[in-house]
Amino acid sequence: MKAILLSIIALVCCSFFQMDELTVLKKWTPAAVVSDDAVKAYGIDSCFTVSAISDAVFSRMQGKSFKQNCTVPRSTLRYVKVLHRNVDGKTQLGEIVCNKSIANDLVDIFRKLYEANYKVERIVLIDEYDGDDERSMAADNTSSFNFRVVSGTTKLSKHAQGLAIDVNPLYNPYIHLNNGKVEPANGKPYATNRSAGRKLPVTFIDTNDLCYRLFIQHGFRWGGAWRTVKDYQHFEK
Ligand SMILES: [Zn+2]
Repeated sequence: MKAILLSIIALVCCSFFQMDELTVLKKWTPAAVVSDDAVKAYGIDSCFTVSAISDAVFSRMQGKSFKQNCTVPRSTLRYVKVLHRNVDGKTQLGEIVCNKSIANDLVDIFRKLYEANYKVERIVLIDEYDGDDERSMAADNTSSFNFRVVSGTTKLSKHAQGLAIDVNPLYNPYIHLNNGKVEPANGKPYATNRSAGRKLPVTFIDTNDLCYRLFIQHGFRWGGAWRTVKDYQHFEK
């Protein structure tokens, strides 16, 4: 009798727990961690989607990634939902604002990375860091759209159109070869000796890396192949 009662209690608690996770998935709470059972119950296809920029998302972007002088129309941007394996190997909710022309590429690439258990530390909108690239990179946040210029120039970045994405930027920093400056500043230990044998929470992006191979297959260019700067985190179309 006691055993039956206990299993009924366990069953009720379990379904409540899952309901809670299903609410998190339905609301798509950025950076929330969910169980694989909850993903199964919710449906994995609903976790990799492309949609228009909703009013709620657009208001989060105001004055941050979508600056007052933004010349890129809202209608050319998309909100992409993805799942990713975080550094603990847990399933985490990710969100990306990018150009509509690369939205399906990102869905496909991030789904393949997720299925391969490839670790990505964090994927939330750069607006969570007030559109500040250095702060977002320092937090190892993966992001795409941000209406800004190329660091150290007056030229609009591919990120300004949502045509570029930075992946695991802390461990794959941006190095200015002329002056040795590393962005983010706390990424300096990962700017040199980038051997695959190093123990890190995520893998270095190099030409053997799955992330690199998937982006190249989808027609992106890699910033790690550039000559005057090394932008290991950066893929653009
Ligand atoms: Zn970039």
